[in-house]
Amino acid sequence: GQTTADNLISLAQAADIRFVRLQFTDLFGTVKTVELPVTGLAQACAEGVLFDGSSIHGFARVEESDMYLCPDTSTWVLLPWLDDASRPLARMICDIKLPDGSAFAGDPRAILKRAVADAQVCGLDALTIATELEFFLFPLGNDGQPALAVVDHAGYFGNDQQQAAAHCRLDMADALAKLGIPLFGTHHETAPCQHEIDIAPLPIVQAADALVTAKIAMRTVAQEHGLYVSWMPKPFAGFAGSGLHLRFQAKRADMDDFQDVLRDGNVGCGRRFIAGLLDHAAALTAIANPLVNSYKRLRPGSEAPVYAFWSTRHPMPFVRAAMDANGAVSIELRSPDPSCNPYLAFAAALAAGTDGVRRRLNAPPALFESATAMTEEERFLRSIPRLPVHLDDALTFLEEDETIRACLGEHALTHYVGAKAAEWEAYSRTIHRWEHEQYLLG
Ligand code: GLN
Ligand code: MG
Ligand code: MG
Ligand code: MG
Repeated sequence: GQTTADNLISLAQAADIRFVRLQFTDLFGTVKTVELPVTGLAQACAEGVLFDGSSIHGFARVEESDMYLCPDTSTWVLLPWLDDASRPLARMICDIKLPDGSAFAGDPRAILKRAVADAQVCGLDALTIATELEFFLFPLGNDGQPALAVVDHAGYFGNDQQQAAAHCRLDMADALAKLGIPLFGTHHETAPCQHEIDIAPLPIVQAADALVTAKIAMRTVAQEHGLYVSWMPKPFAGFAGSGLHLRFQAKRADMDDFQDVLRDGNVGCGRRFIAGLLDHAAALTAIANPLVNSYKRLRPGSEAPVYAFWSTRHPMPFVRAAMDANGAVSIELRSPDPSCNPYLAFAAALAAGTDGVRRRLNAPPALFESATAMTEEERFLRSIPRLPVHLDDALTFLEEDETIRACLGEHALTHYVGAKAAEWEAYSRTIHRWEHEQYLLG
């Protein structure tokens, strides 16, 4: 087809592409890249590119430091912000393999592929994810550093074309379109300087690839506008934080396409999928909300979820089920935030939902009242658990959850929990400004 190595080489020659950028991510979602001259493309596609895995955070495994980057030729794309005639640059996403050809256990993309294969075994074989990516745009100061400044007050769907951010957002949308990433649209969000870009449904691995690519593109475009795009989940205590809502859809002729979630009567895949998400909500949070700061978003006072319940119409459920104009039902997981590793978060969410289908769980009734307004006792009686209150809390749940552990595999789990526990420890050791303000003069 279109994307064999030979085709890419002729494509590269025709477009005068001299370099190809290979891309992968570490366990924490940090993007890594290496550029090859196009003359090395054939060998790279056939044999992979040798690198030292032990120098990548979360990859370390001393006895297996030789690893290979194996380009996925279907991910070939021209990077639009570098497509000046003098040096067009192509990009490919890679799988990471060991010298024996097996997938490296610490490769988040391999973890996601395994979760997708597991879901297929359970009949969930044509799932897509659409993502709502929220983010802040801060001005870059003369020192090149972003300023934590409130520079607009536009609000949800706010229309202020004077703002540099509005132009920046459209340039971002243009860049994503050139990268072949399908968009629903883009708008200003609730908080000052806060925006959202909505990516249309894609098969799950492609959806994660698209999100990682989109984030790189958005950061690059923002820089060209003198702005900095921040994925920090909760930069301001008094304003909404940024979420990364994931909308799962199922398309399969002989399945109920999640339609059961909006109907009374027979329990189908949709309710079971939701039940799985709820059952693994706490462990999922450790992956989908990976920063100390993530937990300052998951608190009452904004539209971010705080309690693990589902609903159809409710401002802040953990899972929201909805039907679009075409009658397609989506199951929206609203807890993740944009600081997560999309490969791992998609994998963990998919594993949770799949487990609900495999164990034939049923979701509790949808909730329409405010869980926040209930007493603790009421929530207890109705089995509405609080999401983990901080990162360390979430890590404890992760370590106890066999399904999510198995999804990550022991290698990735150990490195992930180790790094996140150290992050929590560093935060706990720190004496914060709030403590000085409160206690110094006590
Ligand atoms: N910003 C909210 C969150 O943190 C979501 C707001 C919305 O899109 N309804 O998830
Ligand atoms: Mg939205
Ligand atoms: Mg939003
Ligand atoms: Mg949403």
